[in-house]
Amino acid sequence: TIPSYDAIIIGAGAAGLFCAAQAGQRGLRVLLIDHAAKVAEKIRISGGGRCNFTNRELDVRQPHKHFVGRNPQFCRSALSRFTPADFIALMDRHGIAHHEKHKGQLFADRSAEDIIAMLLAECAAGGVERWQPCKVGSVAHGAQGYQLATDRGPVRAANLVIATGGLSIPKIGATDFGYRLAQQFGLPLIERTPGLVPLTFDGEAWAPYAQLSGLALPVEISTGSKKERISFHEDLLFTHRGLSGPAVLQISSYWQPGTPLSINLAPNVDLAAALAQAKLRSRKLIANELTAWLPSRLADAWVAQDSEWQRPIAEASDKALNRLAERLSRWEITPNGSEGYKKAEVTLGGVDTRVLSQQSMECKTQPGLFCIGEVVDITGWLGGYNFQWAWASAHACAHSLQPA
Ligand code: FAD
Repeated sequence: TIPSYDAIIIGAGAAGLFCAAQAGQRGLRVLLIDHAAKVAEKIRISGGGRCNFTNRELDVRQPHKHFVGRNPQFCRSALSRFTPADFIALMDRHGIAHHEKHKGQLFADRSAEDIIAMLLAECAAGGVERWQPCKVGSVAHGAQGYQLATDRGPVRAANLVIATGGLSIPKIGATDFGYRLAQQFGLPLIERTPGLVPLTFDGEAWAPYAQLSGLALPVEISTGSKKERISFHEDLLFTHRGLSGPAVLQISSYWQPGTPLSINLAPNVDLAAALAQAKLRSRKLIANELTAWLPSRLADAWVAQDSEWQRPIAEASDKALNRLAERLSRWEITPNGSEGYKKAEVTLGGVDTRVLSQQSMECKTQPGLFCIGEVVDITGWLGGYNFQWAWASAHACAHSLQPA
């Protein structure tokens, strides 16, 4: 006879593990399947090995502030029923010390491995069975629920949960399986593109800046036309091929190909006024004056672009100084693309939320089929929001699953 469960969850990542644990603890018989040998590889490498597992600044009443997707309001229900405080309480129950960094971001003190161990312990407490590594072949739906062909033989369940995540970092197990399965059952997909990703530039346009590789500084970065303009105050990092750092990762989830980014490289000063004042009192070179507000490597690279900027500030024309201030505080540059899924932290787009119930994550058109985590068209900002979505959507699903 074919082994049978109340629910099969495909993908033992953040969302799949948490959903399995919660459903198991409700008394459901749960099978968790992953094709990778190790669980939760993304948790393991996240947050520099310490996992930025949630964010205290999440405002559940205004999900559009920290989540991207065709309908960010979709995540409100799940996020308000399983909040950052709920996940923190779980960490505390397991005695996992954590700390807050920049802008509400919470990290494990010791290691992301502690969070993985916690999720596995929660699964064990729920009697979750795990098949790993195990490949899933065909999936069929009939009177007896969902039947899967796997390399450990056929298996069946009343409910099937897709928790296979996004496309980023194929090296550690990301596949498009979840999207293909969704399509098999007729669910519409929103176009997928890399998010939270470094942006690249044409070789020629980038040549003057390539020498700045490795340089980091706080900036204000913006994109989009007037009504949809979005800005971030974060650190920018110059790389060999383009721009990275939190500022660029954040803006990359909003940037539209072909449009420019606008970057204020000295966001904490009115540069035009500051340069005009310096002109009255200083005999230094402009590049030297600029080091009051900018790293000197950047100041040197910048003044090299115009001979009028390569002189003592007292001898510079007001026009040249204004042009310099303008170029530094509104540096417009158009990326030619991104570093792609090899470097992206997340995948934008995914299963269209219009076909999912925001209470349960169940597909409205396909009973017993659920989608949770990153495979859904909900993408969080950098800073722990993606894991919070994984936990919250998993929780919503786990508490709606019905036994066979
Ligand atoms: P995943 O955690 O990716 O899990 C999906 C699982 O499905 C994997 O175990 C995979 O092996 C399995 N799978 C895939 N295809 C198949 C298949 N065909 N058959 C069976 N199993 C399959 N977010 C934060 O909030 N904070 C951070 O600090 C953070 N840091 C990150 C750092 C990096 C480098 C990356 C890449 C991402 C980071 N993220 C972070 C994003 C976060 O990791 C994801 O949004 C989150 O893991 C999504 O959870 P998920 O369960 O939906 O998918």
